[in-house]
Amino acid sequence: MIQGLSQVGGQYVSSSPSKSFYQWKNTLFFEADSNQINHALDQAELAYATLKMLAPSDIAQLLECIIVELESHQPLILETYQAESHFPKGRADGEFARTIGQIRTFIKLLEKGQHLQAKIDDATEISPDLRKVLMPIGPIAVFGASNFPLAFSAAGGDTISALAAGCSVIIKGHPYHAATSELVATCMIQAVEKSKLHCGTISHLHGSSHHIGQYLIKHPKLKGVGFTGSFSGGKALYDLAQKRTVPIPVFAEMGSVNPVIILKEYLDTDKELAQKLADSVLLGSGQFCTNPGLIFIESKDDNHPLVRDLISRIIQSEVGPMVHENILKSYTDQITQLSKYSPQLKVYQSNVSCATCGVIKINDLIDVSSLTHEIFGPYTLLVLFDGVDEFLKMIPKLKGQLTMTILGNPSEVKKVSEISQAVNHLAGRILFNGVPTGVAVQSTMTHGGPFPATTDSRFTSVGTDAIYRWLRPITFQDCPDALLPDALKRMNPLKLTREVNGTWGIH
Ligand code: NAP
Repeated sequence: MIQGLSQVGGQYVSSSPSKSFYQWKNTLFFEADSNQINHALDQAELAYATLKMLAPSDIAQLLECIIVELESHQPLILETYQAESHFPKGRADGEFARTIGQIRTFIKLLEKGQHLQAKIDDATEISPDLRKVLMPIGPIAVFGASNFPLAFSAAGGDTISALAAGCSVIIKGHPYHAATSELVATCMIQAVEKSKLHCGTISHLHGSSHHIGQYLIKHPKLKGVGFTGSFSGGKALYDLAQKRTVPIPVFAEMGSVNPVIILKEYLDTDKELAQKLADSVLLGSGQFCTNPGLIFIESKDDNHPLVRDLISRIIQSEVGPMVHENILKSYTDQITQLSKYSPQLKVYQSNVSCATCGVIKINDLIDVSSLTHEIFGPYTLLVLFDGVDEFLKMIPKLKGQLTMTILGNPSEVKKVSEISQAVNHLAGRILFNGVPTGVAVQSTMTHGGPFPATTDSRFTSVGTDAIYRWLRPITFQDCPDALLPDALKRMNPLKLTREVNGTWGIH
């Protein structure tokens, strides 16, 4: 089933033999070339013209079919996933289930059709007949993330939300799990064929060169981008998109240190706290976008039992391998350089793994911005502070984050409230008395946040609201019924819940 070739217009396309970048078992993988990228964009544009006319229920059927295909190839997908990523079976099973569950939540959304936000104001003596609906923006490029080969890659939230919106999708597979990416894309392309949809609905491009992503983004037929990965990659793609003659949106999720703030009385309250925090720091070998990389602890010195306990749990735990050698190298290089940033920083390194924990007082951190950057991997920095005022001085130094977490006792409610009001402009999700890892796929989830966590803080990349990245509003004024999209027709043939003259209902 694995051929090492890109797939465009429902077909494998052959590449120059000199352009191989990867080998999986006996199969060589080849870079997509410019002709293939052009072909994918031509096909995606044609597919979009048909997809945008479909009812949400038709797209739901495609998503159902994708689930059937993925489930029928589950053993091979998981075996390949584990071999390429080195993640254990439990993680593979969990991520597969999450990917399927994610698709199901979009099917439910499409069945209701409310995401179209159809609104109608009938004509009055002083105003015209106005009808508004959300429509898909066009062909989207999705960049698979290395750290989630399933849930944030070929069939991940970006692809599924874009398809659900009615956009065609060109997937740029991540080169470090190219075989998994191809298997998953093949399942989706078969689902497109079985659903009798346009063959350009999904294309899958292989490669390990920036050329592919850059060529895609500069191409006038591309209308939007979903990305999860490094700050340098996301920002480079965003900048390219803004320099186009016609700029397009790039929804890049680029990472975060997810600060956790623990108040004094809470330190002695939760006996499981050190273990919960250590688990959260080390989850996925620290390669989740929500691992806490900065933990502020209200303690004057590092002799507090929680601080000692947390350090020892982090450096004594076993940690799985890193997902690919570039991430390991980047992690090791950054850890090696840590001590040069501040003589006040104490660094504790594990003898059994690459896990590392730093400790510093907040006043020694405030002017060392390099220490507040993400180090992607099993590392966290414990920052000791003495009183809320000292913590508040740090806030202007913190950048946009995916999450912020505050842990406090009921008796510390005033301090909790002061901190939460001071930080809520900084993060997409604020948690109380928990840990930031674990992102539920629900309509109420925000997995986003102010720059540099993402390039657009108004949207989420997880949960059903992720669909709004790929939709734009359009208003029809005094439009004849026959020319209206079905969602806005007078007889409401799709039986959608619509807002008519200010009242929501199926009318
Ligand atoms: P990455 O280097 O950003 O690559 C992600 C994808 O973007 C790849 O397909 C890559 O394609 C493409 N890409 C990157 N830079 C590009 C550019 N300038 N122009 C065009 N395409 C570009 O991410 P990664 O390989 O997954 O991991 C590297 C680092 O990213 C990690 O060390 C970590 O710091 C960070 N990361 C963050 C998150 C997060 O949750 N936000 C997730 C994963 C990784 P090519 O390689 O083919 O060029």
